[in-house]
Amino acid sequence: MKETSYIEISKSALESNINFIKNYLNPEVELVSVVKGNAYGHGIEEFVPLAHEVGINSFAVFSAYEAFRVIKETPKIGRLMIMGFIDDDELQEVITKGIEFFVYDQNRLLKAIEICKKHQLVAKIHLEIETGLNRTGFTTEELNEVQEIIAQNKDYIVNVGVCSHLAGAENISNYYRIKNQIISFQKSVKNLEQNGLNFETKHLACSAAIINYPRVIYNLVRVGIMQYGFWPSNEVKMAFMVKQKSNEDPLKRVISWKSKVMSLKKVSKGEYIGYGNSLQAEVDMKIAGVPVGYAHGFNRSLSNQGKVLINGKRLDVIGVVNMNMMLIDITSLESIEIGDEVVLIGAQGGQNISVASFSDMSSQLNYEMLSRLPDDINRKIIA
Ligand SMILES: *Cc1c(COP(=O)(O)O)cnc(C)c1O
Repeated sequence: MKETSYIEISKSALESNINFIKNYLNPEVELVSVVKGNAYGHGIEEFVPLAHEVGINSFAVFSAYEAFRVIKETPKIGRLMIMGFIDDDELQEVITKGIEFFVYDQNRLLKAIEICKKHQLVAKIHLEIETGLNRTGFTTEELNEVQEIIAQNKDYIVNVGVCSHLAGAENISNYYRIKNQIISFQKSVKNLEQNGLNFETKHLACSAAIINYPRVIYNLVRVGIMQYGFWPSNEVKMAFMVKQKSNEDPLKRVISWKSKVMSLKKVSKGEYIGYGNSLQAEVDMKIAGVPVGYAHGFNRSLSNQGKVLINGKRLDVIGVVNMNMMLIDITSLESIEIGDEVVLIGAQGGQNISVASFSDMSSQLNYEMLSRLPDDINRKIIA
């Protein structure tokens, strides 16, 4: 182990998820794999080549930094798009490398044109439209000027896509807001097309939207969380199951997170365990130390709450989660040795700890829990 814990990435689980999503979509729809946040904690360097191997040819990231990491590992991919941040001094490299990027303000558009003119390059852009998320994107008024600029610089700009992002498609309570976003998007795209702008792709859908709003699948979707084997919310999972009249969850968890028993100790009845007085032994106890703490992505709010698996048994995290380690109540275990495998997320002996239950306990979303797994934990690919 390079670090005090390690992550396993299951190729067969990923392949199964990708096949499921592809089968759900029509064959002419392009599936773009969203790998921002270090591939939702799975590790860009490990995940991207693996996804490419199982049939993904398009990827989306948040920043230029992530895009360069993707390209370094998998230079032959078909499409790579940056949905968010590019520093001015990164823009030329982005354009030179043929990386596509969202354009959501005039400044970026003008900078890109300036670079392209100077170096005889062409920028591949996705025009992002404000439809109600109020995060990034051009408003209808701004679009008038922007389409002029694009029309005047046809030699330097390729309109690869027109897009927007939905404000919470995983939750039915956002239904009206989402519906209005869809209407607004359709209207803007129609206007742009009537003014002579044509786009190779049109995209609005994330994981939740392909299930809850299938009419916005268009010809390209940006799917993150589902390819990793998690539903965007229980609500989306329910909606899918009801629609399919099925009881079987088609998604498989790709990630497992494991460590080892570091130390063993007996504590007498009445003693306090760990920092402070959040836990007093009510009986004579046996405890094990595990070298994973909040600095490694194991949330501190799992103190006295979390569960791990050792020797096929589900055991309690006791006391507060420390920066670099935590303590487990192993009183009920018959045998345990230093070095025994500890499962933080994953399966062992028929038991399972899913990220969902893990993050319900710490009231984190799957998204947050996954993407907070540190970059320097060793990731290895398993069958
Ligand atoms: C993260 C993200 C997605 C993917 O969302 P999932 O819910 O993980 O499928 C799609 N589009 C944009 C703009 C995003 O930021």
